[in-house]
Amino acid sequence: MPLEHWDQLKELVFNLWWSWNPEGKKLFRMIDPILWEEFRENPVKLLECTECVNKVLQKPEFLNQLGYVYQLYRSYLETPGPYCSKCRRPIAFFSPEYGLHHSLYIYAGGLGLLAGDILKEASDLDFPLVGIGFMYPQGYVRQRIRPDGWQEDVLNHIHKEEMPVRKVFDENGQWLKIYGYCYDEKVYAGVWEVSVGRIKLYLLDTDVEENAPWNREISYQLYTPNQETRLKQQIVLGFCGMGLLHRLGIEISGVHINEDYAALALVARLLYFHKQGLSFEEAREMVRETSLFTTHTPIRAAINTYPFALIEKQFAFLWERYELDREKFLDLGTNPQNPSEGFNSTILALRLARYANAVSRRHGEVSRKMWHFLWPERSEEEVPIDYVTNGVHLPTWIDDDLRVLLSDYLGARWLEVHESEALWQLVDLIPDEILWKVHRDNKVELLHLIKERLRKRWAEKSFDPSLVIAQGAFLDPDFLTLGFARRMTGYKRATLIFHNLERLKRILLNPERPVQIIFAGKAHPQDQPGKQMIQKIVLLAKDPELAGRIAFIEDYDQELAYYMVKGVDVWLNNPLPPLEACGTSGMKAAINGVLHLSILDGWWVEGYNGKNGWAFGEEPVEGDRDPQDAEALYRILEEEVVPLYYQWDETGIPRAWVQKMKEAMKSIVPRFCARRMFKEYVARFYQKIDQAYEEFLASSKKASPEEKTA
Ligand SMILES: *Cc1c(COP(=O)(O)O)cnc(C)c1O
Repeated sequence: MPLEHWDQLKELVFNLWWSWNPEGKKLFRMIDPILWEEFRENPVKLLECTECVNKVLQKPEFLNQLGYVYQLYRSYLETPGPYCSKCRRPIAFFSPEYGLHHSLYIYAGGLGLLAGDILKEASDLDFPLVGIGFMYPQGYVRQRIRPDGWQEDVLNHIHKEEMPVRKVFDENGQWLKIYGYCYDEKVYAGVWEVSVGRIKLYLLDTDVEENAPWNREISYQLYTPNQETRLKQQIVLGFCGMGLLHRLGIEISGVHINEDYAALALVARLLYFHKQGLSFEEAREMVRETSLFTTHTPIRAAINTYPFALIEKQFAFLWERYELDREKFLDLGTNPQNPSEGFNSTILALRLARYANAVSRRHGEVSRKMWHFLWPERSEEEVPIDYVTNGVHLPTWIDDDLRVLLSDYLGARWLEVHESEALWQLVDLIPDEILWKVHRDNKVELLHLIKERLRKRWAEKSFDPSLVIAQGAFLDPDFLTLGFARRMTGYKRATLIFHNLERLKRILLNPERPVQIIFAGKAHPQDQPGKQMIQKIVLLAKDPELAGRIAFIEDYDQELAYYMVKGVDVWLNNPLPPLEACGTSGMKAAINGVLHLSILDGWWVEGYNGKNGWAFGEEPVEGDRDPQDAEALYRILEEEVVPLYYQWDETGIPRAWVQKMKEAMKSIVPRFCARRMFKEYVARFYQKIDQAYEEFLASSKKASPEEKTA
């Protein structure tokens, strides 16, 4: 009998469905609440403790919960969802990173989190999507802060057996490996599978014994600075990814690439159709009509460009084998205005994908301007780069207690239609004190998490005492709390708020209306300015004159993100316009009634309505805009945010503040959830791609009736 329960538990553990369903989280917590926290909510690790599991399997209340959760899970998988027949064949989704859960450390930031949220939403709607990505054996670096404030990069070797991944086996029971060619050398990628509800994500792992040592390292690290390795990563993702789909017999109607890193998937597909008998031009047309490219960056330097010599080294043998014209091929990735720039992955993607989109309205404008030179005969508005504003997966980012509360006031089935604007108007029915209590509990919970982490660090010995204060020991749940957490990189301007330190001190240290700020975020190991920003914050956090009102929490990850976006009062965002393509953490905050205080850039240009948060920085500025933006930020804090927060009534509720929280939920959640976003992708791109592929099949059948297609 217990064997059956073990099997059920294993099935649940290896499907990330549990992570966005409170019943699943509760089940694992029941196994051992202390270990659950100790293992940072990683059920795969928890299950390794056979003793604890066997013990809890004796308890009827656990067996009941298991039975219930397992039924919920099976019913989720087996009941067709609303989008199960929106397309005839799957769309393949390629991304260099995925942020699905912190136990699966294969993400760096927003781009990956977005990819993760897309897979989860596809699962909820039951849309046929299949994901392709990398297994990074070392994952990303963990962050340690030194007493002098400098970020130390701790390369964490990932233990795959502690991750919710499983090997894919071939017919003979061997680990499935796909090969491609890097510089005429065979490179193998072992295949791992991640179950994301109904969706499968396949991860390619070059750390296999068949590979030469230098090729085993290809996917060691996310966004390696080594150009040659980056190109090899792109080759593995694109070519092995395509090869894998063929090997698994998954006939797709088209491809969606998340950022240019996956652009070679389109080349692989082109060569495949060429091999099937289409001319180069026909194959290119075919790929174009069935591809979508999502661009994420308005920063030129972030685009992958390779010297032609490197491209030649890699592709010369393919040109030979496929009898391709070298010039024609190189043209695909060349800037006609400045060919010496090299082979550009974004240009390649724009040429090979008929559909392209930016990730917010503002970013759409910026992208059309940026890439206008590729379509000199058109006006800027006619540049074929559309936009779909990002959204976040609501069940992942909402607080569990808030979710229950919403069921009480919005009705038990609210999640099914959570993109409905009408539904969210019902938030007004929630009594202020009840919403405020949930919010305040979240704040307490965040501070608890921060202090528990600190306690552990302290117990490791040789932990500098001043870092205990710098990392949040003096945080107080009664103080107005601002949160700033994201990748620490120049354009995000984490240190803008320190522009005028004296003025900031007056705001933070006001004895009647104290304010505190919680920072978190990692800098890329090579990003020295990013590390300097962190150092500046940590040194101020240690400064006795600031009385512990600034905290820098080390090692930002998806877990800390979840607790922060629901546990602070205000989410601060002040990138340098127009460099924030969209930004998504503010949306996660809004779901939980946390108010957005943001510069007008990215999604906030669409999201801000005058009542649902605060905005600044509208006016264009010549040259250094820090002084003006900082001034605007201080002014809003002094005149609006702080007074509003401290307007408590006699029962201790800041009524006007709670009103604003409700306004944020009403106006933001339905428009910036992943469901709204995903439905747009389906209606505007995936269905057209599906149709184009169907027409292609029909016409190729007519052309050669006896020949089998693909
Ligand atoms: C949402 C999220 C991000 C993206 O934040 P931005 O506001 O878009 O910069 C980065 N990291 C983590 C862990 C996240 O959850």
